[in-house]
Amino acid sequence: MTKPITGGCLCGKIRYAIDQPVEKIIACHCTHCQKISGSGASFNTPVPSSAFKITAGTPKFFADTPDSGNIMHRYFCGDCGSSIYSQRTKTPEMVVLKVGTLDDSNGMKLVMNIWTKSARPWMHIDPALQGYPENRPV
Ligand SMILES: [Zn+2]
Ligand SMILES: [Zn+2]
Repeated sequence: MTKPITGGCLCGKIRYAIDQPVEKIIACHCTHCQKISGSGASFNTPVPSSAFKITAGTPKFFADTPDSGNIMHRYFCGDCGSSIYSQRTKTPEMVVLKVGTLDDSNGMKLVMNIWTKSARPWMHIDPALQGYPENRPV
């Protein structure tokens, strides 16, 4: 195997490592992701919790309640505010990592857009990609 994939927040206090390859990026255009990212969408990749390890610092979290009612903990750096990952209390076996925090995301590909019904009008959504007006089907 290759060396672990690493990333962290802007100030460097929070660092993490992933010991399996990550490839697919899912853009989420929900209103909560817009607020938390301060942007038009958040760009995420799902990672099994067992492969994800915080190697420095302790992220803070905000307990978000999306429309689905499933509480989601949104983890961020308490010093610089970088949004790093989220985890649903219902599915603790997965974390949803913000790919902008990876040190290197070469080789990764945007494959899907979700919650396109709330996409900002100035966001470009590639019609060639898979897209869902709300969450992707399970
Ligand atoms: Zn930080
Ligand atoms: Zn979202």
